[in-house]
Amino acid sequence: MHEIQVHNTLSGKVEPFVPLKTDVVHMYTCGPTVYDFAHIGNFRTFVFQDILRRFLKLRGFRLTHVMNLTDVDDRIIANAAAAGIGIRDYTDKYVQAFFADCRALSVESPEHWIRATENIDSMVELIQKLQKKTYTYDSEGSIYYRIAKFKDYGKLSKIDLSGIQTGARVDNDRYEKESARDFALWKAPKPGEHFWETPIGPGRPGWHIECSAMAMKYLGESIDIHTGGIDLAFPHHENEIAQSEAATGKPFVKYWLHAEHLLVEGEKMSKSLGNFFTLRDLFGKGYKPSALRFALASVPYRRQLNFTFDGLQQATSSVDRLRNFAARLKNEKFPSGKQKAMTERIDKAASDFDDGLSDDLNTAQALAAMFDFVREANIAMDKGEFRQGEVKAAQQFLATFDKVFAVLEDNDAEKLKVLGYDTGSDRTDDAEIEKLVSARQAARQKREFAESDRIRKELADRGIILEDTKDGGVRWKRK
Ligand SMILES: [Zn+2]
Repeated sequence: MHEIQVHNTLSGKVEPFVPLKTDVVHMYTCGPTVYDFAHIGNFRTFVFQDILRRFLKLRGFRLTHVMNLTDVDDRIIANAAAAGIGIRDYTDKYVQAFFADCRALSVESPEHWIRATENIDSMVELIQKLQKKTYTYDSEGSIYYRIAKFKDYGKLSKIDLSGIQTGARVDNDRYEKESARDFALWKAPKPGEHFWETPIGPGRPGWHIECSAMAMKYLGESIDIHTGGIDLAFPHHENEIAQSEAATGKPFVKYWLHAEHLLVEGEKMSKSLGNFFTLRDLFGKGYKPSALRFALASVPYRRQLNFTFDGLQQATSSVDRLRNFAARLKNEKFPSGKQKAMTERIDKAASDFDDGLSDDLNTAQALAAMFDFVREANIAMDKGEFRQGEVKAAQQFLATFDKVFAVLEDNDAEKLKVLGYDTGSDRTDDAEIEKLVSARQAARQKREFAESDRIRKELADRGIILEDTKDGGVRWKRK
């Protein structure tokens, strides 16, 4: 096995991954702000962190992974107030939709899902700590963080602080680098908006304090990995560092991993350009969850991902190719024995796969290792050179692959059904296909060729292609 290396935004370098404790990894991921359905750009990041956690588990690490649901922030407060409902009622629909989307994309549940609104006490305590250490000041009922007092401010995003006025403030949860300034830890209530009565006064937490408080509550003062989209590095993660390290005097996070942006057909995704997609938009167009997961995972996380419909179509074919290969291994009979070259080929593929993922999660290299092997093994099978004795090792490699990529199981129809996209009517399940294939074989053996042709045509109409094999058997695959 290869040494795991990751790119750390804090150092700007690729570094060997060595957790603070030997066998357990404490990891925090900024979850969605649940004011709307998550879009494919959000899921690019969530699929990346899923690949990361799955790979670490594959490599034997125990994981304590926390992901939060930001269920209080500027947009939620404003939208809920406009709708005249409580923030819990407002966000619940989107929380449930997010969980369902994660299941559809086979994004594993972290060890802890936590909601900001259930951790207000911890946020208040953290603000009190910062008050005691004089990192804060009050203004008109709000409490601000004094960034000039935190000497390391800017170390993550490498922001230039030279032009910043001391004491200039920002109340918005999200702002640009150019407006780096003292930010709100606690916001005074506004008429008609949700607030909490607390020892530091009435109001609500700023977005940044939420993640610092929850990460340290569930994972401790120093954690191994913090992940998020690159757009969170500033101001959100910079502010998390300032809050946490000022309060504890300890390094907050050892490795910061950030996923790059997603473009759609070469352009920034936006509602006004009409290229803004949620998962549901794509499922509604007939695309499969497995294909979307594959497409989002296939580009290494630090490279910009240009999402295209051609690419999604290719991802669909790639997943089918893998599933067909797995079916071949399962259903075909190969000549007995083993062949040294193929045994070595499988070992090499497995090693290249691990090598790719160990290299800062280079999913493109890991996938190339798999697809090169599949191509060569298919050729060997067609030539009758693949031996029965290799089946187990090949299946083992596929299983290892799928622990990380999670696309082999043919469960797209079920997943879509759960989300309300019923594709079941025009889809034939495996058992039914097997039955028809056997019936056709039986007809052929009895030389009832009209019947066997009829069944072949019926299968073709359902999108199933039959291929006769050398040993007189038959295998099938979906178009
Ligand atoms: Zn966060």
